[in-house]
Amino acid sequence: MQFEPIAAIATPHGTGGIGVIRLSGDGAFTVAQRVFHAKSGKALADMAGYTAAFGQVCDVDGPVDEAVVLVFRAPKSYTGEDVVEISCHGGETILRRTLAALLATGARLAGPGEFTRRAFLHGRIDLTEAEAVMQLIGAQSADAVRAAIAQHEGALYREIRQIKEILYQLSAELAAFFDYPDDDIPALTRESVLPRLAEVQEKLEKLCVQYETGRVLRDGVTVAIVGKPNVGKSTLMNRLLGEERSIVTEIAGTTRDVVEESAQFAGMTLHLFDTAGLRETDDPVERIGVARAKSKIEQAMLVFVLFDGSRPLDGEDESIFSMLQGKRVIAILNKADLPQRCDMARIRSVFPDMVSISAAEAHGMDALETRLRDRFRLEAIDPRAGMLANARQLDCALRAKTAVMESRQGLIAGFTLDVLSVGLQTAEDALAELTGEQASEAVIEKVFAQFCVGK
Ligand code: GDP
Ligand code: ZN
Repeated sequence: MQFEPIAAIATPHGTGGIGVIRLSGDGAFTVAQRVFHAKSGKALADMAGYTAAFGQVCDVDGPVDEAVVLVFRAPKSYTGEDVVEISCHGGETILRRTLAALLATGARLAGPGEFTRRAFLHGRIDLTEAEAVMQLIGAQSADAVRAAIAQHEGALYREIRQIKEILYQLSAELAAFFDYPDDDIPALTRESVLPRLAEVQEKLEKLCVQYETGRVLRDGVTVAIVGKPNVGKSTLMNRLLGEERSIVTEIAGTTRDVVEESAQFAGMTLHLFDTAGLRETDDPVERIGVARAKSKIEQAMLVFVLFDGSRPLDGEDESIFSMLQGKRVIAILNKADLPQRCDMARIRSVFPDMVSISAAEAHGMDALETRLRDRFRLEAIDPRAGMLANARQLDCALRAKTAVMESRQGLIAGFTLDVLSVGLQTAEDALAELTGEQASEAVIEKVFAQFCVGK
């Protein structure tokens, strides 16, 4: 099969110190040679893999820029093909002219994610690793980067392979059992099959449960900060952001609308909504704010509900208790620097997860951090372990899990071993789709379409 050379600018658009153009495919060295001339006079085709040359990029109008060219030889490159990377000065014009020169001399413009797609086609990476590349580029926190690197290195792929091996083994034994029932093979029994199915189901369940944790690491957590006016919501928000954003005043009801900001806290990204004080009011503007606050609470993954520790609880606080039923809540008793007059036990009886802080004086922020990490079981997960990275992968894993679970239930209910064949096949197919061995062209198309050009 022929893989025509493809080229694209690999660095972000705009001006930078250097810009990189990547060229990959059969004949990459020949195409690059028409555009780049090494000072040493050496031909690119004669260079060893992983070596660099300094020289000049030219197009039909003459010299474009000085550049360093890196040579990678198949299969030891990102794509698994011959690759040339041209590093020039990072000016938009220079990059465009260099790219245009390559396109004029035999390369085709790479589509979104096409380099990574080539790596997939050449079996350098599986679909989960390809998706990890995207995840890595979009990672917003240190933990997210670690998780993405683990996927990139095949952690999920290995995890899925283990599961698949159990399934394949079962399928093989099943086939042998049906084909040669009288032969000398160990009899397949319900008792020997059930624990193995249970093991597979458990592994898949764990992956599905950890998906949420993975999502938290990747995309962050939406947090609504709620509480009646003047309990210190804006002060806490500013504390988390590390700068003055919302207006802090002593007049109750100042934050009339929802203020949204993202902050790095506890090793994750928090998308914070500082909501209007929740209370019944006649002020029409404030009312809109309260209504919006309520809808934000509905959408948020987590609620920080604040109470003023220096004041006794009142009817407004009580109405907040009932409003937050069924939500995932961390109760925050603020103003710990003042003499405390609030009924802590009452709050704790409604929201067992409670911390005492002073947003103004920055006390107790580490306790809040610990609560938050516990809440999403961030300590319990190993960011280097296999983790499902997106909805597509989750969907495949869920289908596999359901198939295995149904087979198990069938056996427990007394069906004969034949019920296994369909279930095992469905699970195996779903997992093969997950890693891309058996993904349809449409699925693969969709995965790579989400990439940027140049990756
Ligand atoms: P919000 O209406 O809930 O957003 O409350 P604000 O953040 O605007 O704060 C209301 C008032 O409480 C302001 O005067 C703050 O300075 C004060 N305040 C906020 N947090 C604390 C705290 O931890 N300790 C003390 N003593 N005052 C605080
Ligand atoms: Zn406020």
